Amino acid sequence: MDDCIFCKIASGAIPSKKVYEDDQLIAFHDIAPQAPVHVLVVPKKHISGVNELAADDLALVGHVYSVIQQLVRELKIDESGYRVVVNSGKDGSQSVPHLHFHVLGGRSLAWPPG
Ligand code: 5GP
Ligand code: ZN
Repeated sequence: MDDCIFCKIASGAIPSKKVYEDDQLIAFHDIAPQAPVHVLVVPKKHISGVNELAADDLALVGHVYSVIQQLVRELKIDESGYRVVVNSGKDGSQSVPHLHFHVLGGRSLAWPPG
């Protein structure tokens, strides 16, 4: 999608601090980290959000979690703990309409979120 910031990051048109990439996904540090570790895992395919996931995308979502398992080990938060967040829509505070999974850790995270 031409005017989508995460499509541009996925294609390399906008630089990012990349921590992982394969043919389906890219993961990079969030530009405004909310925790000592704050990485975004982003499918390269433009999917606007959870509402737009199709049956065909289920394997992709499984792959996202497999990559998250690997990343949290590399980022050394697998044992201390972390949170995977997908903000969705207006009340969910989604600001970028391209599906992405926040991985937050490195500090104790409050619950419930604000
Ligand atoms: P959302 O609010 O949609 O759940 O999350 C979007 C996230 O993308 C925010 O945490 C925001 O800081 C991050 N973000 C927005 N633009 C950029 C960018 O150009 N580069 C990076 N690395 N992160 C971005
Ligand atoms: Zn996009």
